[in-house]
Amino acid sequence: MIKGSCACGLCGYEAEGELFDVLHCHCACFRKLSSSAFSTYGAVSPSGFSWLCDPGNLIEYQSSKSVSRFFCNTCGSLLTSIDKDVKNAIYLSVGLLDNDTEVRVEYHQFVSSKASWYEITDGLPQYELSP
Ligand SMILES: [Zn+2]
Repeated sequence: MIKGSCACGLCGYEAEGELFDVLHCHCACFRKLSSSAFSTYGAVSPSGFSWLCDPGNLIEYQSSKSVSRFFCNTCGSLLTSIDKDVKNAIYLSVGLLDNDTEVRVEYHQFVSSKASWYEITDGLPQYELSP
């Protein structure tokens, strides 16, 4: 069981099954949302996902026509993202996982938007956009 929670602990979730499609995303949107060089996220199946908090404690930000991001309305942690055009996945911010020992990042995407001050040195596959 995958479990995650925000910085203040007010919002959390659990998900059955394995995390898949784990990646570092360097797109400008994720850099700004995470206030960092990149954001790391992975997907779970929506059928096994459940919130462990009142959904009223979440703020939804629609970052594009099909993508919505969900934040804790107290501490601002980015918890999950959904893409209405991708039915088989809910994307979790890997940095918020509470039991992340099995997570292995598979690749970098949107390296064409990478921060100029950050150098990728881990040898993982890199994609200019998404694979
Ligand atoms: Zn919080």
